[in-house]
Amino acid sequence: MAISNKYQIEQRFISYGDARSGEKLICPKFVVSHETANNTADADDHYKYFDGQQPNASAHTFIDDTKILEIIPLDEKAWHNRYGNPEDNRMFGEDANDAAIGVELCRTGDFKKAYDRYVWYHAYLCRKFELDVFKRIVAHKTLDPRRRSDPESWLKPNGVTWSKFINDVKAYYDAWDGEETTVKVEAPEQKVKAVVVSNPERALRKGDNGTPVTNLQKKLIAAGFKLPKYGADGDYGYETVSAVKVFQKAVGITVDGIAGPVTFSKLETYKKPKNKSKSIVAYPGHLIKKGSRGKDVERVQRAVSVSPDGVFGTKTEVAVKAYQKRHGLKVDGLVGRETWNKLF
Ligand SMILES: [Zn+2]
Repeated sequence: MAISNKYQIEQRFISYGDARSGEKLICPKFVVSHETANNTADADDHYKYFDGQQPNASAHTFIDDTKILEIIPLDEKAWHNRYGNPEDNRMFGEDANDAAIGVELCRTGDFKKAYDRYVWYHAYLCRKFELDVFKRIVAHKTLDPRRRSDPESWLKPNGVTWSKFINDVKAYYDAWDGEETTVKVEAPEQKVKAVVVSNPERALRKGDNGTPVTNLQKKLIAAGFKLPKYGADGDYGYETVSAVKVFQKAVGITVDGIAGPVTFSKLETYKKPKNKSKSIVAYPGHLIKKGSRGKDVERVQRAVSVSPDGVFGTKTEVAVKAYQKRHGLKVDGLVGRETWNKLF
């Protein structure tokens, strides 16, 4: 049996949505290698997640110890690297999302079996799209070194270096059509504890929790987008949704309350306006309350983490009351001098 027949590729495509736009990927120019950084989800779980949740992130193929599963057709784009990173443009002349296949290695099950499929699938892609194994496979880490460490983050603890991985791919690539059946691709037997990676591979949204959410919340707070009620509690609740929306509006990107690659990228580079938090904004001299409109209302809304539309409605009133309660002020939902001075 030729190496080319060693594994079957399963295709089960997710529905169209944020994770799968259907935009065409004409003739892939390189491959980006990832690992999921998720200790419990296998290939099928990732299919379910991307199909159901439709985050603003995705990859073409998920590989575990039992299957190679393509969830996005190889002639469509997937969202597996941050736009705005210079490295993919420098190396390949294009953004990875527009020109590359994204392949994810799952952590579940037997590492050796999953790794062998992962190696084989990279060789398959290089054969299929006529790509040079040594020049056209790149680690996600190389494209996004400040935020990512995959797939080495899972290869390394299992005893596989990047160069071993590439050489293993080359061995399969070279033996592809021959009758040779005994190409040895073996990872050491070593059992290792899973490494927890804090930066998420996928978009975060309401209902998510854990370290990636806490990190997002800390970044928001550091950027001056307050989470007055719950702080960095690791739960992506309405307050985080609201702060993410305020941030998205402030930097001029799609306001959906979902922290996807674009939002993270903007947060990384966001510069907090200088002295804003220290400067005292003079009380406008009149009560701001339900029904009020304008710039002062926007200021109040920003201060209580309500999406600033300049219209003092019920949401703003509720947020103001909550703020007053927390700060020992009279809870009336009216922004008078006392509340204003506390806010600013
Ligand atoms: Zn990755």
